[in-house]
Amino acid sequence: MDQVIALQCVLCGRRYAPAEARYTCPSCGDAGILDVVYDYDVVRARLDRHLLSRNPERTMWRYAPLLPVEDILQGSPLTVGWTPLYRGTRLAEALGLPCLDLWIKDDGRNPSASLKDRASAVALVRAREEQAPVIAAASTGNAASSLACLCASVGQRCIIFVPQTAPPAKVAQLLIFGAQVLLVKGSYDDAFDLCMEACRAYGWYNRNTAVNPYMSEGKKTVALEVCEQLRWEAPDIILVPVGDGCIIGGVGKAVRDLLALGWIERAPRIIGVQSEGSAVLATAWQKGTEEIVPVPPTTLADSISVAQPRDAIKALRAVRDTGGEFVTVSDEEILAAMRLLGQTMGVFAEPAGAASVAGLIKMAGLGKLGADGRIVALVTGNGLKDVASALKAVPEPVRVEPSLEAVRRVLEVGS
Ligand SMILES: *Cc1c(COP(=O)(O)O)cnc(C)c1O
Ligand SMILES: [Zn+2]
Repeated sequence: MDQVIALQCVLCGRRYAPAEARYTCPSCGDAGILDVVYDYDVVRARLDRHLLSRNPERTMWRYAPLLPVEDILQGSPLTVGWTPLYRGTRLAEALGLPCLDLWIKDDGRNPSASLKDRASAVALVRAREEQAPVIAAASTGNAASSLACLCASVGQRCIIFVPQTAPPAKVAQLLIFGAQVLLVKGSYDDAFDLCMEACRAYGWYNRNTAVNPYMSEGKKTVALEVCEQLRWEAPDIILVPVGDGCIIGGVGKAVRDLLALGWIERAPRIIGVQSEGSAVLATAWQKGTEEIVPVPPTTLADSISVAQPRDAIKALRAVRDTGGEFVTVSDEEILAAMRLLGQTMGVFAEPAGAASVAGLIKMAGLGKLGADGRIVALVTGNGLKDVASALKAVPEPVRVEPSLEAVRRVLEVGS
């Protein structure tokens, strides 16, 4: 792994060899999230844009020289990453901005139907390098179903902590993938703390977001793909749903990597979108501080429902360093975005997954988008994961007697 120089603490700046610090900074404790530092000369010697363009590997592993792994995930038949980037012409028209160069990155098209597979895949490689018998994770649902999915594909044991309120489809995924599931009688934050404690007690490999420094590295591949799919002409704006802040931190890391390699010329403005009911990072950003004040969340977007964001510093810096901003949206705005995305593009997002589109609609309404800008919204999870919420976004379907007469009556009322 000679492409990795060190792990650097985001709080105190100390650097460690990967073998010296497994998770967080030994001197700062759990808040000392580590960031992987690369030797870009080594990366450059192994990978360039031309080589990439000829690489038939249509998965996240096409960027392996830019990831903290010796080897790619061997023995799994699943395809993680290289998800479609769709042109959002009809959505742009619906926003009243027909000249917008709008794109939707549909990461619901991953094996477990969320972006989390990118991080779980890296966790699995690292855990196998350590020959860990068990991987554990706490999750609002998607990190868990993702880990369970990938572990099932290679026969790795995993133990999952999710709040008992997780959407049933996500719990069903866990059980179908054969994970050992512990439904925690508490919030996501309770599940997280319990999983941390259990990992320490039992020595399990810990996939928890943020405290495992490699998760944001896996997640950054979504933004590497976006830039490659746009032929290295970075968008002006990239909108990212934010809960713990690990995805947006990863997007920020991808931008830093690509600027350092000289593969893109300027950074996109990274826009973090939070629910009004779970907006700790947006609040900190507005106050211009990295001090985090936890607030119990109240949002139907379960995947971004977080009291204490675990990757706060990476998230805040990704936004600050790219001249971006945070936007907050209500649950109603998220439901409206799910509807608009579905009806103009045929993409079905879970609430958190559509938060980026809700942020886009909000910015358009506030006149914050140039008429011809290039914009990418990340859709991070598929709508089938939370059908109950989707049904709140739409009217009741019409019921008819099984007769043409009944159909006629309905159509007459409708027209
Ligand atoms: C996890 C998740 C998010 C938020 O990612 P963070 O790294 O916690 O900010 C957004 N959308 C979906 C669908 C997710 O699963
Ligand atoms: Zn530190």
